[in-house]
Amino acid sequence: MTTNNDFSPKPLFSLADTDRQTPPTGLIAPARYVQGPDLLDHLGRFLALVPSTRPAVYISPGGLRRHGEQLLGGLRALQIEAAVEIFEGECSYTEIERAASSLRAKGTPFDSLIAVGGGKCLDAGKCVAVRLEIPVVICPTIASTDAPCSALSVIYSDEGIAQGGESFPDSPAFVLVDSQLIAAAPVRYLVAGMGDALATRYEARTCYRNPAGRAVIGGRPTIAAQAIAELCAQTVFDDGIAAAEANYRGEVDPALERVIEANTLLSGIGFESGGVTAAHAVAMGFTRLPAAREGYLHGEMVAMGLLTQLALEKTVDECEQVARFCAEIGLPTHLAQLSIDTTADGPALQEAMAHSAATPLMDNEPFEVTPENTWAALLHADEIGRAATASVGDQAYRRLHA
Ligand SMILES: [Zn+2]
Repeated sequence: MTTNNDFSPKPLFSLADTDRQTPPTGLIAPARYVQGPDLLDHLGRFLALVPSTRPAVYISPGGLRRHGEQLLGGLRALQIEAAVEIFEGECSYTEIERAASSLRAKGTPFDSLIAVGGGKCLDAGKCVAVRLEIPVVICPTIASTDAPCSALSVIYSDEGIAQGGESFPDSPAFVLVDSQLIAAAPVRYLVAGMGDALATRYEARTCYRNPAGRAVIGGRPTIAAQAIAELCAQTVFDDGIAAAEANYRGEVDPALERVIEANTLLSGIGFESGGVTAAHAVAMGFTRLPAAREGYLHGEMVAMGLLTQLALEKTVDECEQVARFCAEIGLPTHLAQLSIDTTADGPALQEAMAHSAATPLMDNEPFEVTPENTWAALLHADEIGRAATASVGDQAYRRLHA
């Protein structure tokens, strides 16, 4: 993968160039985080903390239509005129370089970039901000991933295939989550975010228990990150169903607020400082299959990746428990629910799993991960998931995909 940013936190946090046997523990987090209904109206006042008076806003055409007036009107009321740069849809180097040069060409010395939207827009925004050497302010409009809080972007090819990540020296300067926007957004996004959030517990646990396991930043995970990752999944188990119902009604309630925090803040810190392993490696593999990549959200693929991880780690009881919850909330529990046919897609799927097995994320598993055991785990997870759906039913999944 080509990258225009050479920063990597790994040598820094792991002290790999020293003679230390074990790296230190480490944790990073966004500088500030606020969450509550109708907060987008108040973005301008929070810019004083960055501090920023000449921001540029990075937003998709749909986002501008839906939220432009609220966002830009709120800023204007505080005499803040923001330039607008349109996000063209993919977090690829083509888009990142295009947006960075377009903003440079405007000739204004912007002092922050406010990225407003879903995971890919926010991730692309972080890359654009680092190229302009300004802080990034993150305003998620959906709670579908844990992208908002991390100092890391997942980069895709122009076709949408996951290519790897780009890391930044700074975490986002400010994260503002307007929970009313999340309540008004389609429920499928919130549920997908729960898939990403659930995986955080199991991935962080594997990284913590394995002495060779490393957090995404390169150090050993802190017990703080463990506690956050644990609370993240527990919140989803406890409040997920009620939160989805509040989202269907378009109303913010305490359960929805807690799940938004789990999907966004807890999962963000939990994955970055707790570590990532098989669930995400397998999800990255699914992006090689056009039907999965084009029809499903990151967190939906991570949910199936999580079932595969638990099958790979042979914690079958947990795999069954997670599969039942996935069926109840409407996350995919088996491959057909990602439009993958194990027979027709067999060779491509096997190749995708071989790529997953080879990613460095798998180094956090406490045993050797091969294309063979990954493939066997995927088939086992598929079988467990089908059984869970047969007993729980697929009403929740069908309701989200209607
Ligand atoms: Zn994720």
